[in-house]
Amino acid sequence: MSLTRRGMLLGAGAVLGGVASRYAGPQNPSQDGLGLIAPKGGDGVLNDASLLSETPIFRHSVLKEQGPALIAALRAEMAEARAAGRAFNIGAARHSMGGQAIPRAGHAVTFESPSIEIDSAAQTFRVQAGTRWHQVIAALEPAGLSPKVMQSNADFGVAATFSVNAHGWPTAFGPMGSTVQEVDMLLADGTAVTASRTQNPDLFAAAMGGYGLIGQITSLVVAAEKNMALTPTFQTMTADAFADAFQAVVRTVPMAYGRLSVDRAGFFQQAMMISYAPVQQAIPPVTGSGLMSKAARPIFRAQLGNEWVKRRRWWLETGPNAMLAGLASRSGLMAEPVVTLDDRDPTRTDILHEYFVPPSAFGEFLAVCRAIIPQSYQEMLNVTLRWVEQDDLSLLSYAQGGPRIAAVMLFSQEMSIRAEADMRQMTQSLIDAVIALGGAYYLPYRPHATPAQMTASYARAADFAAFKHQVDPKALFRNALWDRYLSALAPS
Ligand SMILES: Cc1cc2nc3c(=O)[nH]c(=O)nc-3n(C[C@H](O)[C@H](O)[C@H](O)COP(=O)(O)OP(=O)(O)OC[C@H]3O[C@@H](n4cnc5c(N)ncnc54)[C@H](O)[C@@H]3O)c2cc1C
Repeated sequence: MSLTRRGMLLGAGAVLGGVASRYAGPQNPSQDGLGLIAPKGGDGVLNDASLLSETPIFRHSVLKEQGPALIAALRAEMAEARAAGRAFNIGAARHSMGGQAIPRAGHAVTFESPSIEIDSAAQTFRVQAGTRWHQVIAALEPAGLSPKVMQSNADFGVAATFSVNAHGWPTAFGPMGSTVQEVDMLLADGTAVTASRTQNPDLFAAAMGGYGLIGQITSLVVAAEKNMALTPTFQTMTADAFADAFQAVVRTVPMAYGRLSVDRAGFFQQAMMISYAPVQQAIPPVTGSGLMSKAARPIFRAQLGNEWVKRRRWWLETGPNAMLAGLASRSGLMAEPVVTLDDRDPTRTDILHEYFVPPSAFGEFLAVCRAIIPQSYQEMLNVTLRWVEQDDLSLLSYAQGGPRIAAVMLFSQEMSIRAEADMRQMTQSLIDAVIALGGAYYLPYRPHATPAQMTASYARAADFAAFKHQVDPKALFRNALWDRYLSALAPS
C-alpha cells in the first residue's frame, strides 16, 4: 500500500516518531545543495503536521482507558514525569505546527478511547478529551445535532480545540471555548478539578486557549447546535468591499466565510463571500469528503508555481463551481478531512498562518499583505476569511476588545533551510503589520514570531505565565510554546 506523508500522519491518528521514520524523502540534508530538511524519525522523537518540529522526547504513551481508569493512568504517567523532573504534555492529532503538543525530552500522551454522551434535552454533549470531531459529528447526527463551533476540518481533538480556542465557519460565535460549559482536568499535583464559568473560573479562563499548560483535560461538556439543511449563496466583490459585506451577513446566517484571489497579478484584489441560509428540506447525510472537494484537489495542487492555474481556479470557483454547489448540511460542511487536499510531495510541506484583524482595519491589512507576501519566495495556495466574535474571557485571547476577521493562509513551503529563513522573515513582517492594526497572529502554527511579537499580540501573556506558575510551580506541563515564549515571563 502506498501512503503519502500526510496520509500516513493522518492514518496513524498521531504523528509519532515511528511514523516519521517511514518518511521516504532525502536523508542527507545537503545532498542537492538546497539544505533540504529531512525528519529522521524513529523512536524517541515526535514531530507534528509541519514535519519541521522533530523533537526528542522521553516516551510517547497512548492511553486507551476510559473514565476513572484513564484518570488513574494519566496520574501515574504524570507522577513518573514529576519525580524525574521531566516535561509532560497531551496532544491529539498533533496538527499544531510548532511543537505546541510536544514536551522536549518529556512524556507525551495521546488518548485513544473516544466517548461521547449526548444530552438531547440540554443540547449538550460530554466528550472524552481526545475524541476527534469526525467522531463527534457521527454521534450527534442521529440526534439531529451538530457541533456549534469547530475548525473547518474534522480531524482534530475536542480538548485540543478548546486548548487552542479554535474557530471555523459557523457564525456568529466567539471561539470554540465560548461553547464549552465545563472541563474536567488534572492539575500538575494530580488533583482532579472541574472548571467552568462559575466553578474555578480562573482555571477555566486560563485553560481555554491555554495549550495544555494549565491542566490535562480528561473530559468536557460542550454545547451543540441543531443540524440543518443549508443552501449557499456566492457573491464576488473587490477585496476592499469584503469587510463591510461580511459584517452585514454574519449575524443573519448560520455559516459564512470568504476567500481572496491569490495569483500574483491580482493578489488579494478580489473576494468571494459564501453564506449559507437554512432551508426547510431533508438534511443531507454526512458523507465525509464531498465529490466537489475531491475533484478540487488536482487543480488546488496544480497552482504551485503556476499563475495561470491560480487564475483558472478563481474563475472556476467563483463561476461554474458556485453554480453547481447545492444543498449541504451544517455538519457535512465541517466533516472534511485534512487529507483531501494533501500535497503528496516529500520535498514540500503545507504551512498555515492566521491573522485576526479588527474589521475596521481589514482594508489596511489587505494592503500590507499585498506589499509583503508576493515579495517572498513562498507559494500561497489559499486564504479563507472567517468571523470571530469578541472573546474577553480566555487569558490568551486573540479577539480581545472586539470581533475579528480571521485570515487563514495556506502556503506550500519547500522543506529547506532557505525556505524556513524566508518564511520566518515574511511571518515576522506580517505579524508586525497586524500588531500595528490592533490585531494578533494565531499561536498553533510555526513559532516564527519573536518573543516581543508574542507579548504584543497577547496582552495578558504575562498574567497567563504568572497564573501557570501558581498552579504548576515546577512547570511540569511544558511544550515548545512554553519553552520559546512563556517561560521567560513566569516569576522565578
Ligand atoms: C489543515 C488544518 C486546518 C485547520 N483549520 C483550522 C480552523 O479552521 N480554525 C482554527 O481555529 N484552527 C485551525 N487549524 C489549527 C488547529 O485548530 C490546531 O492546530 C489544533 O491544535 C489542531 O488540533 P489537534 O488535535 O491537532 O491538536 P494538537 O496539536 O494535538 O494539540 C494542540 C494543543 O492542545 C493541547 N491539548 C491537546 N489535548 C489536550 C488535553 N487533553 N488537555 C490539555 N491540553 C491538550 C496540546 O498540548 C497542544 O498545546 C487548522 C490546522 C490544520 C493543520
